[in-house]
Amino acid sequence: MEPNLFIYNTLNRRKEKFEPISPPFVGMYVCGPTVYGDAHLGHARPAIVFDMVYRYLLHLGYKVRYVRNITDVGHLEGDADEGEDKIGKKAKLDNIEPMEVVQFYTNQYHAAMDKLNVLRPSIEPHASGHIIEQIEMIRKILDAGFAYEKNGSVYFDIEKYNSQHKYGVLSGRNIDELLAYTRELEGQEEKKNNFDFSLWKKADPEHLMHWPSPWSEGYPGWHLECSTMGTKYLGDQFDIHGGGLDLQFPHHECEIAQSVAANKKMPVKYWLHNNMITLNGQKMGKSLGNAISLDDFFKGNHKLLEQAYSPIAIRFFMLQAHYRSPLDFSNEALQAAEKGLEKLFTSLNTLNKLTASNKSTSDIPGLRDKCYEAMNDDFNSPILIAHLFEGVRIINSINDIKETITAADLSLLKQLMQEFVFDILGLKEEESESSNELVDALMETIINIRQKARENKDWDTSDLIRDNLSKIDIKIRDTKDGAVWDIE
Ligand code: ZN
Repeated sequence: MEPNLFIYNTLNRRKEKFEPISPPFVGMYVCGPTVYGDAHLGHARPAIVFDMVYRYLLHLGYKVRYVRNITDVGHLEGDADEGEDKIGKKAKLDNIEPMEVVQFYTNQYHAAMDKLNVLRPSIEPHASGHIIEQIEMIRKILDAGFAYEKNGSVYFDIEKYNSQHKYGVLSGRNIDELLAYTRELEGQEEKKNNFDFSLWKKADPEHLMHWPSPWSEGYPGWHLECSTMGTKYLGDQFDIHGGGLDLQFPHHECEIAQSVAANKKMPVKYWLHNNMITLNGQKMGKSLGNAISLDDFFKGNHKLLEQAYSPIAIRFFMLQAHYRSPLDFSNEALQAAEKGLEKLFTSLNTLNKLTASNKSTSDIPGLRDKCYEAMNDDFNSPILIAHLFEGVRIINSINDIKETITAADLSLLKQLMQEFVFDILGLKEEESESSNELVDALMETIINIRQKARENKDWDTSDLIRDNLSKIDIKIRDTKDGAVWDIE
């Protein structure tokens, strides 16, 4: 099938046909987490959205190199050139090595993403592992005349850049607006203009993470890592760059400026941004006290949560909204998603039991086309899900003998459900841990009763238990250490 995918390109503010630079290869870079705290809902959305994009591109037959970085240095509290390094601050607070902070929260992030069934990227580079490359890129930008050094720090010269290239192509902001909105920050008199951003910062004595450079013992600016690692692993120009809408400005805008200054080329063909999540209509944030960690969601451990929510229900809930729409989390909405998911999986189990007849009353090839049309229209997962529920309706009607289906259509329906539900949306049926624990506890009780019966030479009861369990495929074996059981 010739892919006919259209993607909304934030750079050009319109949907464009997806034509990779060198098909079938696709380079995709997504800004990953800054690993200094618990993984929360804000982390889950870009991870799930771009996982769906990645899965769909793979499904279409592209060979995708998916790079998602780990930010472990240079991301300051103020997001601009102000405040402490987020990881350094946490390390001081907990009195541990910054790399212990990084490892701990990277592990935690991976565990949460695995639960959400997010595929691991092809390459997951760390900013701290690419200091040499970042220094090299700064050198290029300095050589090109778009940066200046002051007291051991290097800043990007936005005014100079704007005189030859246009600054603000991604966000639509212009330099006059920047002048009006940039705050006066203390201690930043090193900059020619307040809106200039740092490429390299000389480290204060109390700053924990620092490296030697031609300019000072210091550390790279936050925006630089993505330009450097994107270029290193995907080339001067690659296909897709993704991230949250909050990163569009200044982070991604600065990435474009850095790459154009250093390499004289626009770095990315398609820019994709997922919209943000609110909680009960409120912006989420640590300072607002409503940033709920993913672990708390999975365990129901937060005062705002009425219950625990399974990772796949959270995933399904997120995919029910288009990635460019804002998404509001509430207990009600999540519970509705849970019910919908259950309905979907129940019907998929029914699907395996359906029998074919000689006539189809529904247009299954047409349904399959609609599923592709939805995904090809800028990854429109909510429309796709609506079509999949049309599939659910058809399955249930056939099961109720109100409709019929041919063998060919039945296998097509099975294939399309498998591909769109599991491979592309990345949903899966979860084994509930609590029900496993319940089965273990019940079996222990049953085995104890049987043991008691045997001790009393009550063979009738002992055999009754064994035979009844055998009917539901549970086999009991007596060993010298007591009875053990297994599901056949
Ligand atoms: Zn980034």
